[in-house]
Amino acid sequence: MAALVYVALGSNLDGPAGQVRRAIAELGRAPSIHLRRVSRLYRSPPLGPAGQPDYINAVAEAETGLSPQALLAALQAMELAQGRVRTGGRWGPRPLDLDILLYADRRIHTPDLRIPHPRMAERAFVLYPLYEIAPGLEIPGRGPLRRLLHDCPPKGLEPLDEG
Ligand code: AMP
Repeated sequence: MAALVYVALGSNLDGPAGQVRRAIAELGRAPSIHLRRVSRLYRSPPLGPAGQPDYINAVAEAETGLSPQALLAALQAMELAQGRVRTGGRWGPRPLDLDILLYADRRIHTPDLRIPHPRMAERAFVLYPLYEIAPGLEIPGRGPLRRLLHDCPPKGLEPLDEG
């Protein structure tokens, strides 16, 4: 039985928009993951210390026959394949972050997997792209996406001008 899932994509390193587009293409090619919809790319100011580049974020909707754990493993393999950069001979930070936001209407709380993603309700860069592709969503245990969005100001988030 295929499950409807939502995946958040984010990058702020090494050409972030290109990283996110490439990850979307990889998701589209992945066996057992059928990409259905993808939001626009959004730009958001970085959390934490100033001086970092802006983030580029997007959210994808897909159907998958993979279990939640197998989906996590597939996403982590994509992060690794695409993401790690060598800086000064050491593995640097990841230019690509992939998070499972929702897996059908499941609630999962294990040491390595929490679904719905625990911080999604406070993150404008997750909620707004998600709303763009699935405005009627109910977040298990959290209520309607529309209400979460209402309580989360966009804080500088804006769609990327892809002119
Ligand atoms: P990060 O380095 O911020 O991408 O965090 C990755 C870690 O978060 C991994 O070790 C995952 O096991 C864990 N994790 C927990 N819940 C999730 C989720 N819903 N999606 C992706 N990673 C998750």
